[in-house]
Amino acid sequence: MDKHTFNKGLFSFIGGAPTPFHATLGMLDRLTDAGFVQLYEADAWQLGVPGRYVVVRNDSSLIAFVVGEEDLLQNGFRMFGAHTDSPCLKVKPQPDKVVKGYHQLGVEVYGGALLNPWFDRDLSLAGRVSYLSKAGVIADAVIDFKQPIAVIPSLAIHLDRQANKERTINAQLHLPPLLAQLDDEKAKPHFNELLLAHLVEQPSYGDVEKVLDYELYFYDTQPPGYVGLEQQFIASARLDNLLSCYVGLQSLLSAGTRHSSMLICTDHEEVGSASFCGAQGPFLRSVLERICGDNETLTRIMDRSVLISADNAHGIHPNYVDKHDENHGPLLNHGPVIKINANQRYATNSATAALIRLLAEQAGVPLQSFVTRTDMGCGSTIGPITTTEVGVKTLDIGVPTFAMHSIRELAGSDDGWMLKQLTDAFFQSDRLL
Ligand SMILES: [Zn+2]
Repeated sequence: MDKHTFNKGLFSFIGGAPTPFHATLGMLDRLTDAGFVQLYEADAWQLGVPGRYVVVRNDSSLIAFVVGEEDLLQNGFRMFGAHTDSPCLKVKPQPDKVVKGYHQLGVEVYGGALLNPWFDRDLSLAGRVSYLSKAGVIADAVIDFKQPIAVIPSLAIHLDRQANKERTINAQLHLPPLLAQLDDEKAKPHFNELLLAHLVEQPSYGDVEKVLDYELYFYDTQPPGYVGLEQQFIASARLDNLLSCYVGLQSLLSAGTRHSSMLICTDHEEVGSASFCGAQGPFLRSVLERICGDNETLTRIMDRSVLISADNAHGIHPNYVDKHDENHGPLLNHGPVIKINANQRYATNSATAALIRLLAEQAGVPLQSFVTRTDMGCGSTIGPITTTEVGVKTLDIGVPTFAMHSIRELAGSDDGWMLKQLTDAFFQSDRLL
């Protein structure tokens, strides 16, 4: 594999993953195609050595692992974590609104979305629909309209002369996307019926009787791609954090079976990770307990293990250079960024950073460091949460990006590939800490 092949694979993965459900199923497909065996949480597990397995929870979180030939008690797990969700707009339970004959859908804001870029985009809708089948059972469908079916038009500048100076967005009033113009102003469209019609059209859901509920999200239909005079950048929705998921996936697929390794991709990071399938929930601990057997063995194995928590970092923006500490402004295409915070918003410590710095040096991968300005607050991620839950030594790292949480984010075209090489070196390293 080379950088270009890696980036093309990344574009295809993100383009096919408008929601955490699609991201998880996309990873599951790639893993099972490569011979990973899917385990189900409700079943008893018989794990072989060596063995390659994958478990999914809620269709939106995934843990894949290799039980390696070497003794877990001596050699631990090489673990890599990322998150499957991204900020976006979610359709409300009773979303239908008709104003002046326009059919609109009410939305909630999921996570810390940058709202301005959502205007004037060709939006589609995807997610999970739970329905009653003709046989009388509840079933789920992970769907994607794929076509641009909605838009949030801006208000013209002539009607808001201050728009470029002090535009504010009222999320309740200004965000409902425009879906259709109705022939009859008094018509009462029903979103569930529209969903039913969409499902019935799909050959795989011919048994649908009635839509019971859904989790559906708007997304931008513009596909990921290179940008820049010399294609030095990649632009896409959901680079935070599907880029990291894709890196971890590719490295796990090529990890071999000598060491034990694990990929953890969880939902709900953008809203704090506290959920039954999030990083603050019981999913990871439960999988680890089933692999390790008892609590003492788990503790001993965790003491031998290291987790790379991968989530994007803020590159220093040339138009806003004062937003970074002058010695810690990561540049795009200059390598992955180790993230450090004195107040444990990141879980990196000197021991885990030392290990990764050495591995990077040996692999020829340049590294950068990020700490926030001392007079500004700091974001966080799954690293501190996961180490709090299972007690594994952790490093927070990520590729530098611009426009984090926009509907279209920007990264360097070299950095994902470099993080992949570093993760390969980590999965293949003989010694941890
Ligand atoms: Zn993130």
